[in-house]
Amino acid sequence: MEISLYPKVSLPNKFMGLAINSGKSFGHVCLYASNHHQAVVPHDLVNDTEVAEEIARLDVALKECSQDLDRIVLEVSEHVGEAEGSIFTAQKHILNDPAIIAAITLGVRTEKKNLEYILDRVFDGYEEKFAKLDNEYFRERSTDIGEMRRRLLDKLYNTRPGFICQGQHDCSRGKDRIIVAEELTAEMMVHMKLESLLGIVTERGGITSHAAIIARSMGIPAVSGVRGVYSQVQCGTRILVDGDAGMVLLNPDAEIVAAAIPKEPQISENICYLETPAGMEVLANASLVEDAHQAAFTHADGIGLFRTEILFMRAQRRLTLEEQSAMYRDVLSIMKHKPVTFRMLDVGGDKELPFLRIEKETNPYLGWRGARFLLGSPDIFETQIRALLRQTNEHIVRILFPMVIDSKQMQELLAFVRAIMATENVRSENVRIGAMFEVPSACLDADAIFKSIDFASIGSNDLIQYIFAVDRNNDLVSQDYNPDHPILWKVLQDLANSAKQHKKPLSICGEMAGRPDAAAKLCDIGITSFSVSPRLVNRVRNEISRYCSRGITI
Ligand code: PEP
Ligand code: MG
Repeated sequence: MEISLYPKVSLPNKFMGLAINSGKSFGHVCLYASNHHQAVVPHDLVNDTEVAEEIARLDVALKECSQDLDRIVLEVSEHVGEAEGSIFTAQKHILNDPAIIAAITLGVRTEKKNLEYILDRVFDGYEEKFAKLDNEYFRERSTDIGEMRRRLLDKLYNTRPGFICQGQHDCSRGKDRIIVAEELTAEMMVHMKLESLLGIVTERGGITSHAAIIARSMGIPAVSGVRGVYSQVQCGTRILVDGDAGMVLLNPDAEIVAAAIPKEPQISENICYLETPAGMEVLANASLVEDAHQAAFTHADGIGLFRTEILFMRAQRRLTLEEQSAMYRDVLSIMKHKPVTFRMLDVGGDKELPFLRIEKETNPYLGWRGARFLLGSPDIFETQIRALLRQTNEHIVRILFPMVIDSKQMQELLAFVRAIMATENVRSENVRIGAMFEVPSACLDADAIFKSIDFASIGSNDLIQYIFAVDRNNDLVSQDYNPDHPILWKVLQDLANSAKQHKKPLSICGEMAGRPDAAAKLCDIGITSFSVSPRLVNRVRNEISRYCSRGITI
């Protein structure tokens, strides 16, 4: 269990939060402050000229904020990715929402109060309305509304958010920085020099917030929901961020840091990449087209898990056949002729796609999700399959089904794909179909499933969740989320044996594949293919090489 890494830490120095992005980092706190503009003072406007002046100020502020956002869109698109850039386009739409502008203008005209006061009240109203919505996704959009309020008030008061430690004695800006902020906002991500950023810790902000998505796509360890941390640290405080356990440690001992973050080669242009030992594979996990560049850069042997639902989440709408087809084509061509496994849309649980209008469920983790959702949504299923099959003229296309529950359901999925193959111009010899093993019932039915598929992948993140009935996102029960549990290892061993018996490739793509020392144990049970976060590819390859050089053949 990850927690045992930190035996000596006394409680006041340890904070728990939500694991937003995996990885561990150690550095110095850099405090980031947003202006809250909490006390916006009202004053009366004495005549129509003053009213007109306030409306004119609103026009100017809106124009300037829009220009700022245009610049940010360009900056982020260039340095992070186009999809991330589009987050700020969406914020610009909020900023220029005619209903909001009309409400502010009307408020100034009828109440004859200053612009700041009316604007603050109108945005507060919208933010509150969104924050109360049932749907998590929309709730998190209230952060965007709050950000637009802050942005406009900053403009009107001529203030700026920023780092408060600049110029102080302990300031470590520019190196080993771990940003600590009250709220994780997309704005914050743009203001910081990304190259020197080692981690992010915030008091608020959820898993699907935009900034969380950016942190993930950049591979920065991040923990949010860490209540009370902001007031406990100062600029320069030494801090360890554990984005796997959702934990933050202040001023940890050197041994704790050394145990948590073993020295590993940094990914750089000059690194000497080892060859993956014969018969083994180290692949990268990816979610966006841009991630494929990172996978190629780390010399991964391919992409073992492309989480296609993130493309939909980013677009905030259904993607058309043509759009999907173009994205899949781009990923395949970036990876040249290395294998790419596209996981079919995996919605449900914590992965909500509000535009699909799935009814609210009492227990979404056991509800309308994964393969079950695909079979029940034939139009979405069909469009995605067609978009993938279109690539078969030039590439081998590997299609992976999430949350498969048994061989009967696998047969239904296969029948659906085959029916579409019969109507498309498909090179069927280039199609490979696989199943994820992440539901216990599928593991118990592995022999029958292996008979009908070409390959499989172990989704250990969910497998652990379902074997032990422990929510993978809930830090209150994290002591039961145990990747070292012998029962889990028995299940993994049985899967590896079954794959071998049926001569079918089996990979592991959950987070545990990238844990330090997991590679050797997984090799021991006969797993030969690992799919991990791109920044872990080289380290895992090193571990496997070391394992193989001990003269052990798998
Ligand atoms: C898993 O469950 O292990 C997995 C890889 O899928 P996800 O984390 O996207 O659910
Ligand atoms: Mg899963």
